[in-house]
Amino acid sequence: MKDLSVVWTETVDILEVRFGLAAVQEIIGDLQTITFRKGFFYAAPSVNVFGNWIIPSLPEGAPYRSLQWYIDQSYDRARRSVIGSKLLELIVNEPWQKSNAHYDLFLLGQSLVPTAEYPSGQQVLALSMPGRATVISAVPLRQIQDDRLRLFTIRRVVGHQLGHLIGVPSPSRPETFLEPSGERHCPNVCVMRDSPELEKLVQMALEELRAHVMLCPACRQDLLDMMMDAYFGRN
Ligand SMILES: [Zn+2]
Ligand SMILES: [Zn+2]
Repeated sequence: MKDLSVVWTETVDILEVRFGLAAVQEIIGDLQTITFRKGFFYAAPSVNVFGNWIIPSLPEGAPYRSLQWYIDQSYDRARRSVIGSKLLELIVNEPWQKSNAHYDLFLLGQSLVPTAEYPSGQQVLALSMPGRATVISAVPLRQIQDDRLRLFTIRRVVGHQLGHLIGVPSPSRPETFLEPSGERHCPNVCVMRDSPELEKLVQMALEELRAHVMLCPACRQDLLDMMMDAYFGRN
C-alpha cells in the first residue's frame, strides 16, 4: 500500500492539526499494529508528516519550493478561496508523485471551492481524488462554537476523507451506498457514514466518539483486505 503524506497550511491552527493527525494515527496506526503482530513489517503504509514544508535550497519563487507555492497557484483572490480542482491537479502532478507515488492528505485553513465557477458565497468542506489526494478545509467547521465539538468534528472529517482516499468502504459490500457524486458510504456507526449538513455531521461525530468507533468493523476489515491485497500484489 502506498505511503501517506500529511501537510497543512499555516492558517490551520495547532489544535486542528493535532486532531486531524489523531484520526490518521488511529486509522493507519491500527494497520501498523496488526501487520507488525502478523510479521508483515512493510505491509502498512508509513505516514510522512511534512506539515507546512519548505525546501530552502530551491531559489525563491521556484515551482514546488514550498507548500505555500501550491496555495499561491490555486488561490482565487476575488473569491478568497482555494480552487480545489487546481490544487488537486498540482498535487497529483507534482514531481514527488512521479518519483514515489503516495497518498496526499492536505489540510487547509483557507476556504475551499471545487471550481472557479462554483456559486459565489458558497464553500465546501473537502474534495477528494480517490487513490491520489484529498483536500480538507477547516473553515466550514469554524462555525461550530464549542471548541471540543469542533475539534472532534475535524478528526471525524479527516477520518472520513482518509477512508475515501484509500477506498473504504469496499464496493463488494452490498449494504454500502454509492452517492450520485460517486462517493461510497457506509450505513453503520462509522466515520464513513454520509453527513450531508453540518449539524448532522456534529451529531454523528459525537455518536461515534461515544461508541469509540472511527471505522466500523466492516470498514476496518475492508481496509485490512485492501492492504494485504496490495502487499501480496493481488489486483
Ligand atoms: Zn463522503
Ligand atoms: Zn463503516
